[in-house]
Amino acid sequence: MAQILSGKVVAKAIFANIKKEIEEHQLKPKLVIIIIGHDPAAEFYVQNLEKKGSKIGISVQTRKFTADISEADILKEISLLNDDKSIHGIMIQKPLPSHVAESKIVLAIDPAKDMDGFHPVNIGNMILDQAGFIPSTPAAVLEMLRFYNIETAGRKVVILGRSNIVGKPLANLLLRKDQTGNATVTVCHSRTKNLAEITNQADILIAAIGRANYVQPEMIKQNVVVIDVGVNQIVDLEKGQKYVGDVDFEKCSEKCSMITPVPGGVGTVTTAVLLNNVLKSTKKLTVQDNFIDEKWLKK
Ligand code: NAP
Repeated sequence: MAQILSGKVVAKAIFANIKKEIEEHQLKPKLVIIIIGHDPAAEFYVQNLEKKGSKIGISVQTRKFTADISEADILKEISLLNDDKSIHGIMIQKPLPSHVAESKIVLAIDPAKDMDGFHPVNIGNMILDQAGFIPSTPAAVLEMLRFYNIETAGRKVVILGRSNIVGKPLANLLLRKDQTGNATVTVCHSRTKNLAEITNQADILIAAIGRANYVQPEMIKQNVVVIDVGVNQIVDLEKGQKYVGDVDFEKCSEKCSMITPVPGGVGTVTTAVLLNNVLKSTKKLTVQDNFIDEKWLKK
């Protein structure tokens, strides 16, 4: 039977460390989240961030705008946030209304305050293995690997999905010459042929495709480590609505050596990693240079 890799304990350790550092260095981290229009799932996520933040000493402030706000006004708001020295992190909650171009919004955020790590400067730094912010979901996967001492060096990692927010950054991060890198990485997508043949070679399989229970036991080899990033809502006859991953947990877990649950796996760590970015940004923006370790942003 597989070891279940709980994200909760990983998140707890990250939150405890953030709280400790804030208290130790008497920091006053502040994250501002812009939310446009009304989306219950997005509002729920943001409220959760506010609650978590207040527990560990990070002020999370949400600025709400109606869906008819112009792109120019949002860009103006971002510019004010960039200039405000009391603010250390900016996050734009999706979804955005169709008249607001995501690419313009991402470019407008000061890379030093870009908590999502989507600005091209941060993406470039990540690929070049330089200091910068890393998108939360791939960073959460790395935290899971690190916490559970999962060896990646020389192992075959197959990633399902090539999105800009999960698959592509993860592939780059796993190639780094560090503790959670040095892997031999294969990235699969919807045009990949003979998918099961490739997934069967994986020592570590990371699924991020958004297809409920897509990965079945015949697609994985014995003792594989499975990291399931997928979060899919399905209708369950007994429980009503429920969330499942991209991997059929019940059927596959017997074959894995380790597997992350959904919910309670990678997603749980994402919030912690995002708030950790706010801590890093606060240290960088408010504390004297000698306080900062050279690798302050990389871990
Ligand atoms: P996305 O932008 O829709 O990308 C999905 C990727 O999967 C695409 O590259 C697509 O290929 C590929 N794909 C789709 N069907 C496939 C198939 N049958 N075989 C192989 N590849 C297939 O999704 P995303 O934003 O990366 O999210 C992926 C999943 O992760 C979703 O379930 C999402 O809810 C979840 N997620 C979780 C978190 C978290 O915090 N836990 C955060 C973000 C996302 P093409 O490129 O060819 O279309």
